[in-house]
Amino acid sequence: MTSSASAIADQLTALLGSRGVLQHDADLGRYMEDWAGHRRGRPLAVARPASTEEVAAVVRFCHANGIRMAPQGGHTGLVDGALPAETDDELIISLERLNRIHAIDPISFTMDVDGGCILADIREAAQAQACFFPLSFAAQGSCQIGGNIATNAGGMNVLRYGVTRELVLGLEVVLPDGRIWNGMKALRKDNRGYNLRQLFIGSEGTLGIITRAVLKLFPKPDQTATALLAVPSVEAAVRLYGEARRGCSDLLSAFELIPRSCLELAFEATDQLSDPLSTAYPYYVLLEASATGPIELDTMVEQLLEHAMAQELLLDGVLAASSSQAERLWLIRESMLEGQRARGPHLRTDIAVPLARIAEFVTEASAAVEAASPDSTVLVYGHIGDGNLHYNILPPSQLPEADKHALLHDLEALVFSVLDRFDGSLSAEHGIGRLKQAAWLERVSSDELALLTGIKAVFDPDQLLAANRILPASGRD
Ligand SMILES: Cc1cc2nc3c(=O)[nH]c(=O)nc-3n(C[C@H](O)[C@H](O)[C@H](O)COP(=O)(O)OP(=O)(O)OC[C@H]3O[C@@H](n4cnc5c(N)ncnc54)[C@H](O)[C@@H]3O)c2cc1C
Repeated sequence: MTSSASAIADQLTALLGSRGVLQHDADLGRYMEDWAGHRRGRPLAVARPASTEEVAAVVRFCHANGIRMAPQGGHTGLVDGALPAETDDELIISLERLNRIHAIDPISFTMDVDGGCILADIREAAQAQACFFPLSFAAQGSCQIGGNIATNAGGMNVLRYGVTRELVLGLEVVLPDGRIWNGMKALRKDNRGYNLRQLFIGSEGTLGIITRAVLKLFPKPDQTATALLAVPSVEAAVRLYGEARRGCSDLLSAFELIPRSCLELAFEATDQLSDPLSTAYPYYVLLEASATGPIELDTMVEQLLEHAMAQELLLDGVLAASSSQAERLWLIRESMLEGQRARGPHLRTDIAVPLARIAEFVTEASAAVEAASPDSTVLVYGHIGDGNLHYNILPPSQLPEADKHALLHDLEALVFSVLDRFDGSLSAEHGIGRLKQAAWLERVSSDELALLTGIKAVFDPDQLLAANRILPASGRD
């Protein structure tokens, strides 16, 4: 740490107390590395404010002294947004101590929480009041609601409940100069002027730091039907989705595509799993429907499955007979990510394709990858009901590490070029951060870029907050 960094840390300590600042290498480890463990940043220090006023005080101090800031939640983001720059000049502002659940209102179905609350804790607290907060995905034990809002996270239940954008009623945000914007309304209808709340959602920390939110809740489902279904092809999975939407009276909450290769990665990642079906199939769908009240949900799902079997959309399947069996089916979906990570460098994409053209896209993209690198392994899975695929690629295992990175870079460009022909999106739910910035900038129109740059300039003219995330930093780099 340089002497000026040490002086800054001392001044931050005067604002936050010693628990509020980390500056020594031994304490910084987990704030510097990303989830996959492939990249490392180097922060100036880590500030850990414990209240909105403390966040505002830190930001005012940084603004007055021209210090760059990187907001950090649970640090599970997959596009390097929360990872500090390598340049040693960014202060991480971690929200981890801002973690109070203030109130749950089971009558109006709302919840008031700090930005640093862990998503799983929010879900659990809602459940204890017979309510349900639907945002859910494998990182929920670590990610924070502020990070979820900043990235407009998606996850497993989007097709029924929407992305985070649809789950937030109110926000409190510390602006890049340290002012506090209070938008903590709990209103379902509020149509006054431009919607600043929606502007902050998905802004990846570039417009302000989310310190508190009012979330939308739903009645806790008292029935859930979870099934792992073997399907012959991606095309059949998409057709089955259409049948399931209609056949489940719009109670479908999850519809995940899983190829056999990912099932095997899940088995590699944990010894708690075994194949739920006696035969191996090329593709599977993890389907979940849920309901509250007097509905024969199991009967509805069984009828759907019989109908799909008759149409040859379905080859085999298992409908969970208990909540623990359902949890094991979900463990497959969660563990396959760990299985991928254990294989080392791999291409991770998060793309959106018009739903009706998913099968066509997979065929074209896979033919292109096969032609360019026949020994690579394509893993295509995802939230198929949202048209959101993770079209991932494992490079040949025998390749040297540096060659793997170069190959994956080229294959990403190839997949994105196929995606362009389908008018898809190169980021369905993870955002742009720093990792997808170059590919996104190649595709954004100059008019759109000028509008976005103008918005950033209104909030953060000095480009101190989350600089070089989404938009390229100008001036100081
Ligand atoms: C195993 C695994 C599975 C995942 N599955 C999904 C999935 O299904 N769907 C999905 O959408 N994502 C998924 N993700 C990605 C990730 O979990 C989400 O992007 C999550 O919303 C990030 O939250 P976080 O608190 O970890 O944010 P971080 O990683 O800490 O930060 C993400 C971005 O938000 C900014 N930020 C963080 N907190 C704040 C704040 N309070 N105010 C302003 N800006 C802030 C950061 O600067 C950064 O740009 C997954 C990740 C992992 C590791």
